[in-house]
Amino acid sequence: MPNVLKTIKDLLSHLSEDERLELQAYLKRDQDISLEELLRVKANAHGLACPECGSTHVVRNGKRNGMQRYFCKRCKKSFNELHDTFLQRSQKDLSVWKTYIQCMVDGKTIRNSAIICDISPSTAFYWRHKILDIVYKY
Ligand SMILES: [Zn+2]
Repeated sequence: MPNVLKTIKDLLSHLSEDERLELQAYLKRDQDISLEELLRVKANAHGLACPECGSTHVVRNGKRNGMQRYFCKRCKKSFNELHDTFLQRSQKDLSVWKTYIQCMVDGKTIRNSAIICDISPSTAFYWRHKILDIVYKY
């Protein structure tokens, strides 16, 4: 494995400034996709069972905020792909969460993060703890 890393580093040293920027953009785009992909994988791992009663008699039930919703035929409750994740019950769009996580990675204060994401400072404080809880868990 260290040889692979060394080879990559050698190759990177031969890249032009433009190629390096292109690679950075590519890697960043890959990160942007991964959160949604992660949620989708998680939803599929559940085999689309109802989070309320565990029944698999679940049907698609339209989209809300770009997120697929599902309806349980047994208990008549609906849910989305985010059930059982830290985004469950969040009123905010996934893109706001992504911006907020980026603010945390960049080391921005709660107040500044709140301004950037257009959320209240108390929401920003709550989100920070929600995210940190998950980071500590893993
Ligand atoms: Zn159910």
